[in-house]
Amino acid sequence: MERHDDIREAVRRLCAEFPGPYWQALDRDRTYPTEFVAELTRQGWLSVLIPEEYGGAGLGIGAASAILEEIHRSGCNGGAAHAQMYVMGTLLKHGSAAQKAEYLPRVASGELRLQAFGVTEPTSGTDTTRLTTFARRDGDVYRVSGQKIWISRAEHSDLMILLVRTTSRDECDKSSDGMSVLLVDMREAVGKGLTIRPIRTMLNHATTELFFDDLEVPVANRLGEEGQGFRYILSGMNAERILIAAECIGDAKFFIDRASAYAKERSVFGRAIGENQGIQFPIARAHVQMSAAELMVHKAADLYDAGEPCGTEANMAKMLASEASWFAADTCIQTHGGFGFAEEYDIERKFRETRLYQVAPISTNLILSHVATHALGMPKSF
Ligand SMILES: Cc1cc2nc3c(=O)[nH]c(=O)nc-3n(C[C@H](O)[C@H](O)[C@H](O)COP(=O)(O)OP(=O)(O)OC[C@H]3O[C@@H](n4cnc5c(N)ncnc54)[C@H](O)[C@@H]3O)c2cc1C
Repeated sequence: MERHDDIREAVRRLCAEFPGPYWQALDRDRTYPTEFVAELTRQGWLSVLIPEEYGGAGLGIGAASAILEEIHRSGCNGGAAHAQMYVMGTLLKHGSAAQKAEYLPRVASGELRLQAFGVTEPTSGTDTTRLTTFARRDGDVYRVSGQKIWISRAEHSDLMILLVRTTSRDECDKSSDGMSVLLVDMREAVGKGLTIRPIRTMLNHATTELFFDDLEVPVANRLGEEGQGFRYILSGMNAERILIAAECIGDAKFFIDRASAYAKERSVFGRAIGENQGIQFPIARAHVQMSAAELMVHKAADLYDAGEPCGTEANMAKMLASEASWFAADTCIQTHGGFGFAEEYDIERKFRETRLYQVAPISTNLILSHVATHALGMPKSF
């Protein structure tokens, strides 16, 4: 019996309507899974974290994790829509009552897509405090200029949570001060100071580069206090890491299921390849690693849902799960021999997709650095 069995069963049924050939065609043309996202929205799966008073299901991160895990385990990809689940957390936690009442019910119903999250910049990289996209106050508006990179789903979102500087770094006491969060209405912004340029990558992820040239954003669209934005963004990252970790667990289960099934059925030298321990052991090891990572995902999710601090656990869950899914992916390819490379098996596509999660939304080295300094008290190296 797995956690959230009813949810898993329903999500599996939905995913069965979107089999391999659907994803293969999208992957070939790098197009967005519009029908899949529409169905997830229609069935209410993307609004489970929104409180009931705003029209969501008011469930916890454990339930949301089960949804994303099943999507990935089924061979689908939640990357096209997962941000609709958690990006709203910044609005929910730090928005005013008026902002929440205006946007959250429409995000919950799917009328508004809030799944773009603009943090990363080409020159600052992981060192977020060095971001330079600047919002200059001009009466009732901010005028935003600068550039973002790797902003996923920007072309498929109505709203974007955007982190900008409102005070330059050298004028701040602390480097993490002086940043603010703006809720940008993309429908009004595109062509009026915002240009979106898609980036073609090794996976179908609808990621883009954004150029801001004197884009006007009403001051009324700032979430929370001016200058506190970095803290607001950080506070949403645990949810993102736990949910991505759950996707990796789903990927790992997909690869392990496929590899063990193929090992039993493929016959070479007059016997099933799975009779050879050289084939069996890596698949068993992948299962062991995935199972351990899954426990950490559950631990992080339980702490999160209990309102306890969970930064280290969320980071560890993301690291362990992304490494477990990658090992399972590699093992699955090896088990399939040449067939692992054939598009129609979906394995090479999932292999490319799951590799992302050792880099984004946070790379492994940065997680190790967090654990070294926060959990083990070692000196900071940057
Ligand atoms: C497909 C895709 C989708 C994405 N979607 C989004 C999105 O929607 N929104 C968004 O804001 N961002 C997004 N990102 C950006 C992503 O979060 C970053 O790519 C990631 O955080 C790594 O940052 P970077 O690419 O700038 O790498 P860098 O910071 O340039 O780092 C490069 C490498 O050096 C290592 N490194 C850096 N500093 C240190 C150090 N001090 N010690 C040891 N190692 C170090 C890193 O671990 C990494 O391996 C996306 C990225 C990709 C590829």
